[in-house]
Amino acid sequence: MLSTNIKKELISIVGDRYYFDDQEALITHSYDATPMYQSMPDAVIFPGNVEEVSAVMKVCTKYRIPIVARGAGSNLSAGTVPVEGGLVMVMTRMSELEEIDEENLTATFQPGLITKKLHEEVEKRGLFYPPDPGSMVVSTLGGNIAECAGGLRGLKYGTTKDYIIGLEAVLPSGEILKTGGKLTKDVAGYDLTKLLVGSEGTLAMVTKATVKLLPLPEHKRVLLALFDDLYAAARTVSKIISAKIIPSSLEFLDNATIRVVEDYAKIGLPTDMAAVLLIEQDGPEVIVSRDMERIAEICREEKAAEVKLAQSEEEGVQLMTARRSALSALARLRPTTILEDATVPRAQIAPMVEQINKIAKKYGIQICTFGHAGDGNLHPTCMTDARDHEEIERVEKAFEEIFDAAIRLGGTITGEHGVGLAKAPYLEWKIGKTGIEVMKGIKRAFDPHGLMNPGKIFAKETRRRVVLDDVATH
Ligand SMILES: Cc1cc2nc3c(=O)[nH]c(=O)nc-3n(C[C@H](O)[C@H](O)[C@H](O)COP(=O)(O)OP(=O)(O)OC[C@H]3O[C@@H](n4cnc5c(N)ncnc54)[C@H](O)[C@@H]3O)c2cc1C
Repeated sequence: MLSTNIKKELISIVGDRYYFDDQEALITHSYDATPMYQSMPDAVIFPGNVEEVSAVMKVCTKYRIPIVARGAGSNLSAGTVPVEGGLVMVMTRMSELEEIDEENLTATFQPGLITKKLHEEVEKRGLFYPPDPGSMVVSTLGGNIAECAGGLRGLKYGTTKDYIIGLEAVLPSGEILKTGGKLTKDVAGYDLTKLLVGSEGTLAMVTKATVKLLPLPEHKRVLLALFDDLYAAARTVSKIISAKIIPSSLEFLDNATIRVVEDYAKIGLPTDMAAVLLIEQDGPEVIVSRDMERIAEICREEKAAEVKLAQSEEEGVQLMTARRSALSALARLRPTTILEDATVPRAQIAPMVEQINKIAKKYGIQICTFGHAGDGNLHPTCMTDARDHEEIERVEKAFEEIFDAAIRLGGTITGEHGVGLAKAPYLEWKIGKTGIEVMKGIKRAFDPHGLMNPGKIFAKETRRRVVLDDVATH
């Protein structure tokens, strides 16, 4: 609980309708979509504009109060869990879509805007904002920016960082920083825009963003390829890319995921297959048809049991929607669902899937794997029970080995969900001591008192690297 004086100062900025410190509000903002992490804040505040954000930040700096930015709380790295207490600043009141500029092909909006809403508004005008995290119906663009969210279309179109061209952000001191603009080219100094994208609320509070837009692709087609051999499916992914075809989505579901998704979405997925690839291409009709034919050929060469082309765009949308429901479907199996984010160069997908299965078997746990296979971003997902401490210990060891395997295969500990609290002990495995020191220096420049989202990205202690004897040999 903050002192009465501080509370009064904060209420004088936002009004008492937008400041909360009752038990219900504190508990509601003590966790996010990441299982097994929780910590109580001291208060929750909902600013309505950039001036209020700035004034609140000044109060926090004056009294050295930690500030945790929050959008929809849908992140999967415990990024909004207020581990050191303090103030949770929820950005959902600031949700205005300020402008769609059809001449410059840009959109400018406040951070609380829901991702799907931006898609709908720009698509009405024949324009396209590609980043499409599976959570886009609830996630905010501020959260997408802070996590550099990816999505199903990352393979062809890149991720959030490839679209943000201008930002307004408030530093902990209360100063307002403006970066970039409606420009395609801008090399005036360090690229502060890119630095803030993916900074996980540890540097500044994003209060406005400008993104570039593309023309909406004219045509889309989805193909479903069924495999009774998991590794043939993974090889097919690499083969499609090396045939110089970049589909707009190339998604992978293993058998366990297929069964659960089918039970949930009832769209006629075959439940006896080892793996399914869901492949979408977009663009001019003639290119889409040409690519789909070649992709079907490659799937057959790799002995796909069946290759089905969706008969209509609606059927394609239905299949992609089913894929988006994978996590919700898996979450019904057991009380705790831990979705991870190990990412490898795409040519290493087959060895990575093999490693995940081996590790799951070694530790006697249930892991289903699905993900954005086209860009090597796999989501091994463990269905477990947080109340079973012995099992959770095995799960933690298994994931340590999975991260280790990903790094050994030239990959990373997170492809899109961010480091947050959950991955902080592993960051040094990926970027080394020098990387950590450089990042800490950047953090000090923005946030000298360490108030912005403390405890995230940088761990007090790095986990010891596990030694695996046979990982690198595949
Ligand atoms: C079912 C499901 C599917 C998902 N699919 C994907 C996916 O396909 N791809 C993907 O990348 N992620 C995915 N995610 C993870 C998550 O949705 C994304 O990380 C998303 O970007 C979080 O947005 P949010 O509004 O919920 O942010 P929050 O969870 O509220 O916050 C995330 C981070 O951003 C910071 N933050 C929030 N707003 C601001 C701001 N205005 N200024 C500064 N920092 C801020 C927070 O402090 C925190 O560190 C999925 C999650 C779920 C539950």
